[in-house]
Amino acid sequence: MSNGTHKKEEKGVRLTKAVRLDLYTSSNSLDLDTKNELGLNFSIDGYVQDPAMAAKNPKWGIDQIEVKWEPSISNGPTSAQIAVVDYNGDSGALVPAAKWDAGKRQFLDERRHRLDRANAENFQFHQVNVWATIQRALALYEGPDALGMPISWAFEGNRLIVVPHAGYGQNAFYDRQSKSIQFYYYQDADGKAVYTCLSADIIHHELAHAVLDFVRPRYLETFTTIQNAAFHEFFGDISAVLFLMRNNGFRQDLGKNTDGDLTKAKILKNIAEQFGETVADREYLRTADNPETMDHLQDNLQPHDCSQVLTGTMFEILLEISYVYKKRGKTVPQALWNSIQRVLPMILHALHFLPPVDVTYKDYALAFLRALELYNPLDPSGYYQICLNVFKRRKILTAEEIEDLAKPHYLYYNQKHTDLQLKVNYPISTIMSSKAAAYRFLNDNRSQLFIPPHHDIVVSGLYTAWLSGRPPQRMGNLHVVEYVWEEEHLLEGAKFGKLEGKTVSLPCGGTLVYDQVGNLLFWINKPGTEFEQDGEGQRRLLDLFTYIEKISGAGMLALAQDAAAIFTSGLVPPVLVHQAGDALSFSLTPHLSLSEDKRSEKLGARKWSVSS
Ligand SMILES: [Zn+2]
Repeated sequence: MSNGTHKKEEKGVRLTKAVRLDLYTSSNSLDLDTKNELGLNFSIDGYVQDPAMAAKNPKWGIDQIEVKWEPSISNGPTSAQIAVVDYNGDSGALVPAAKWDAGKRQFLDERRHRLDRANAENFQFHQVNVWATIQRALALYEGPDALGMPISWAFEGNRLIVVPHAGYGQNAFYDRQSKSIQFYYYQDADGKAVYTCLSADIIHHELAHAVLDFVRPRYLETFTTIQNAAFHEFFGDISAVLFLMRNNGFRQDLGKNTDGDLTKAKILKNIAEQFGETVADREYLRTADNPETMDHLQDNLQPHDCSQVLTGTMFEILLEISYVYKKRGKTVPQALWNSIQRVLPMILHALHFLPPVDVTYKDYALAFLRALELYNPLDPSGYYQICLNVFKRRKILTAEEIEDLAKPHYLYYNQKHTDLQLKVNYPISTIMSSKAAAYRFLNDNRSQLFIPPHHDIVVSGLYTAWLSGRPPQRMGNLHVVEYVWEEEHLLEGAKFGKLEGKTVSLPCGGTLVYDQVGNLLFWINKPGTEFEQDGEGQRRLLDLFTYIEKISGAGMLALAQDAAAIFTSGLVPPVLVHQAGDALSFSLTPHLSLSEDKRSEKLGARKWSVSS
C-alpha cells in the first residue's frame, strides 16, 4: 500500500472501541478502502522480497504491509492464530518481544521507538516483519477467493509459534510436533548475516506447509510415490510466487523493467533469491519457469526438485492466461493482475477436491480443472482448454484421460468413466451434521465407494468452505467429506534391507464434494487391494513398495528417535520412520532445502540410514 493510504488511515474516522469491535466481526463484507478509513486495517513496514533484493532495487525493498486489525493483538507480536517467540535454540537467548501500542496501532522496541524501516536491523523489527507477512497471508487464505474458511492448525492449540531466529543454519522449516515455523540465519561469503525470517518467499513457503497440513493433514504421513512430498514443496513455492505477484508496486515495476516481455522477469519466477545466491551459488533456490515434464520424476527422489514440475505447470498457466489479457490490449501489470485473479482462486479452491491421502500431480490437475469449471462455468475465454493443453504438455494428464474428462458427469478418474450411484442417499445437512452421521452415510454405501466391508473407516475431514465464483457468478458453499482406511502389508524380500519383515500401511480413502443443496460435484478415490477398482489398488501397493525400497536404499530414511539430534545438526532427513513393534509408519519433514541441496554437498553430503 502507498503512503497516501497510510496518511488517510491516520486521519480516518475515529471509532469507539465498541463500534470497532462490531465492525470487526462483519469486516469481511467491507472493501479495503473502507477498512482503512475505519481503522480495521493498519500498516506495518516489511520486506517485499528480502534484504538482498532491497539492496539491488530500493523500490522492491521495504513496503507497507496491510494487516487486519483484531482485538487480541498483543506483545510478541501475538494474535489469534500466531505467536512470535524469539528464542534462539543454539544460544538459549530470548530476544525481548516487540511491544504493542494499542492506541497508535504500532509495535515499539524497548526504548518505545516505533519498529519500522528506520530500524530494520533491530531483531524486534524482524519479529514484526515475519508476523505482519504471515497475518496478511492468512487473511488472504481465508477469503472466498482462496480457501474460504478460517485457518487453524494440524495440531492441538490455537497458535502457530513463529521463531524468527531459531539458531544458526541454512534452513527454515515447519514442524507440526513443536507447533512451529523455525527460521534460521547464517553468514554469506562476505561474513554478512542472512536472516531467513526477512525473506518473504521463505516465510510464505513455510507458512504454506502449515496451511496445507491443516487442510490435508495426512499428506505428512501417507504416500505411495515421491509426488506426495513434492506436492507439499510445490504448494510452498507457488504460494511464494503468488503472494509476490499480488504486490501492486512490484507488478508496476515489472511492467516497466521487462518491456512487457515476462520471460525477462527473473525476479517473478525465481524463488528465494537471497537464499539461492548465498547458499546455492545461483540466483535462486528454485525456479517456477522451467520446461520440466513428468519425465523429470523418473528415479528422482528429491521432493524439492520434483516439485518444480508442478510449480512450472502452474506458472505456465498463469503466464498463458496473462497473454490472453495482453492480447486484449492490457498493460503487463494489468494482464498479470487479471491472470492472478483468475488463477489464484483455482489453485486454492482445488485443495478442497484433493484426496485425503497420498496426493499425485494428476489428482491436483483434476481438482484444479474441476475448481475451474465451477468457478468459471461459462469460460468465455477458453481457460479450461489452455489448462488442459499445459497439463498434457507436462505429461501430467494423458490424451486418454483428457478424452475422459470431456464425458458428462465425470466424477473420478481411477476407474473407467462411471457415474456414482449411491445405494442410500442422505440429505447433505444430515451428512454434514456430525462425523457419526457422515460415517453412517459412508457405511451404508461401502460397495459403491469401494470401501471393503470389514475395514474400520475414519471420517478424517468434514467441513464447509464458502467460495466465490467469477463475478458475477456465485459459487456458494462446498461441503467436503473425507474418509480414510488403511491396509497392512508385509515388506518381503532382501531388497528392503533392515525393513524386511516389518509391516507398512497402504493409505486408502476418498473425498466427496457437494454443493450447498447436496449435488455431488466431485469424488476422488484412493482404492485398496481388497476391494479392487480396476487394478488401481494393486498399482498403488506396488508404487508404495517401490518407493520405500528406493528411499531406504538411497539413505533418505532416518529413525524418528534420532530426529532431535539430527535437527540440531541443522540437516534434516526427508523421511522419518516410526516403529511400533513390527509396524512402521512414516512422516515427512517439510522444510526449505533438503540434503540434496548444494548446501549439504558443501557440508559433506550426509546420508541418513535406518541402520545408523
Ligand atoms: Zn518446503
